[in-house]
Amino acid sequence: MNKKGKKRKKIFDHYLQALNVIFTNVVDFAICPLCLNRFNSFNDFSLEHVPPESQGGKDILITCRICNSKAGYTIDNQLHKQELVKNFYENLENSRKIKFNLPGVSLNSSIEHKLRSQFIIKISKDNNHPENIKKFEAVVSSYNENNNWHECNFSINKMIKYNPFQAEICYLKSAYLIAFVQFGYRYIFRDELQIVREQINNYKTRTINGFFAKNEGLSEDQNYLIILDEPFKALAVKFGNKYIFLPFLESKKNFYKSLSKYDSTNLEIRGTKLSVPTKTELLFDFVKI
Ligand SMILES: [Zn+2]
Repeated sequence: MNKKGKKRKKIFDHYLQALNVIFTNVVDFAICPLCLNRFNSFNDFSLEHVPPESQGGKDILITCRICNSKAGYTIDNQLHKQELVKNFYENLENSRKIKFNLPGVSLNSSIEHKLRSQFIIKISKDNNHPENIKKFEAVVSSYNENNNWHECNFSINKMIKYNPFQAEICYLKSAYLIAFVQFGYRYIFRDELQIVREQINNYKTRTINGFFAKNEGLSEDQNYLIILDEPFKALAVKFGNKYIFLPFLESKKNFYKSLSKYDSTNLEIRGTKLSVPTKTELLFDFVKI
């Protein structure tokens, strides 16, 4: 068995152990934290990175192969694209290849971000067909002669498109999985976590509001968990400059509805900070009750 297989088996055994504490009869399956389906072998699971691998996440848990691959090419991919766009805007030196489209002609070019809202589009003779350069010059001179640049419509494409809502869902999934890794099955089996799973699995439609808050003042370097006392009882997972809220032990019923009265930008929060787990803990599952 290779290193990854061993790791999967180790985490699978830990899931199994936890479930054998929770259920009174002996069980021989582990449950995927995303779909709650039961699987008998560690080979039914894949290592899952939280946050996704493209965000520097670590493979600290396993989810079933079906959930893992579904998320990989949907929401994880959307978050990855969002990060690429963010890096593009933030990285002034970086230029990106685009198509620059004027009426009647499309040119290979590059775009560079300068200063706050200034972009420079560079069109080179070297990587465009001479005919297209001629067309381009004709379009430019016609605009110059008629002095009607204000009417010029141009577009650029090959820029990265992504769905910001689905990128948010990817953060919700990572937060939920981190909470699972820390607190375990007893935590995710709570009724109020059901709508979180539904939202993650049904990532195309918004079914819950208020799980996401941005705070521009937050330092981006460290991720952590906070068991919130103020302004509401919840679990917050901090990723970069945002918080993702999950219902926790003393949260109100209809948790996400109750969040709607709070301003989600620059929310002041107070609570107990915990570090992000570095391995599968499932702490609540091993507590004797
Ligand atoms: Zn699953």
